[in-house]
Amino acid sequence: MNQINPGQHCHCECGKTEFTITGKPLMRMFCHCTICQEFNDANFADVTIFLSKDIEFDQTQHVDFKKYKSPPAVDRGKCGSCHKPIIEFLNLPLFPSLTIIPSQNIEAGSNLPDACAHIFYHRRVQEINDNLPKYSGYVSSQVLMTRKLLSGMLERKKQA
Ligand SMILES: [Zn+2]
Ligand SMILES: [Zn+2]
Repeated sequence: MNQINPGQHCHCECGKTEFTITGKPLMRMFCHCTICQEFNDANFADVTIFLSKDIEFDQTQHVDFKKYKSPPAVDRGKCGSCHKPIIEFLNLPLFPSLTIIPSQNIEAGSNLPDACAHIFYHRRVQEINDNLPKYSGYVSSQVLMTRKLLSGMLERKKQA
């Protein structure tokens, strides 16, 4: 898996909201759930997930956070200036605090990991013709995400 360079600087589309990545990502995936569609104003979300301790973010005053209904509880933040998705906080039972970054906020040229799967594919508004596994249904989508997060955390530990 390709890795992001620690210290990678990131920002939203307008550049007003910034953060720094200080550790390796756990995984990247495409989510087709309706909340991701609405939040991203897109057919699906391309997101990269980190341990929250690997993200330096102190600009909460620039960001509008909203909790969308439906578990797991994700606190989703949009830049107060360009209103584009900037950062999302995910708290799962028994997991350390996680941060979801819309992958487009990670500067081009940095080595994003390859996405591992499409989840909530039953909600798709667009057929995707790639070789990635596609998971339909709430439970199998959640199970896949949990499994990938756990293996990402194990990898992360090995590299720490
Ligand atoms: Zn912005
Ligand atoms: Zn989603």
